[in-house]
Amino acid sequence: MNIILLGPPGAGKGTQAKNLFADYQIPQISTGDMLREAVRRGTALGKKAKPIMDQGRLIPDDLMVGVVEERLQQPDCANGCVLDGFPRTIGQAEALESVLSKLKKRLDAVISLEVPEEKLIERISGRRNCPNDGTVYQVYQNPPKRAGFCDKCGGGLVQREDDKEQAVKERLKIYSAETAPLKSYYSKRGLLTSVSGVGTPAGIYVEIKKALSKP
Ligand code: AMP
Repeated sequence: MNIILLGPPGAGKGTQAKNLFADYQIPQISTGDMLREAVRRGTALGKKAKPIMDQGRLIPDDLMVGVVEERLQQPDCANGCVLDGFPRTIGQAEALESVLSKLKKRLDAVISLEVPEEKLIERISGRRNCPNDGTVYQVYQNPPKRAGFCDKCGGGLVQREDDKEQAVKERLKIYSAETAPLKSYYSKRGLLTSVSGVGTPAGIYVEIKKALSKP
């Protein structure tokens, strides 16, 4: 099953992608995580992406499509995957369509997580990451046991550059302009279900499962 999780930054796509992995054993393909890994490793892609990401803007479509096309061909995607953070533009969605058909795969569902903007800002501004193992905390809803430090490895937590106020505003603006139009794109293709992304992660996941079991 190939699924797209659509939603603005802070909608909870990463959390729900992990639930889907646990249930269906289909890997999460998070282009944001892949780019952050490329930045950390200092690859050519990472060097190109870093200044763009820090400002909250989008990496050019051709670069992103190449990254995803390669990832979809890895053996763990044989039974499907959860795309988290891709596609983000109509151009990426069109390219994904041709990549999937080239690979003889198909898109089964698009779930759009809906969260009001003030809630998104609250969630993102409270987000803290462990740079060592990638664990994400939320200082209000899911705080670490010791403030500022990772429960798993004890390392110091940081705030992502693009989770800072100015970049967040830019990311939300870009989401409305470039990514939200994907809702009608997929709705026209009969693939879209909107799910409220407000509530407990477990409650939201129940709604996602309902949407996926629709005939
Ligand atoms: P995310 O973790 O999904 O919020 O992504 C973090 C940042 O990575 C975004 O703000 C973009 O700069 C970049 N990025 C991730 N996915 C994409 C994509 N599909 N297209 C363009 N840029 C992306």
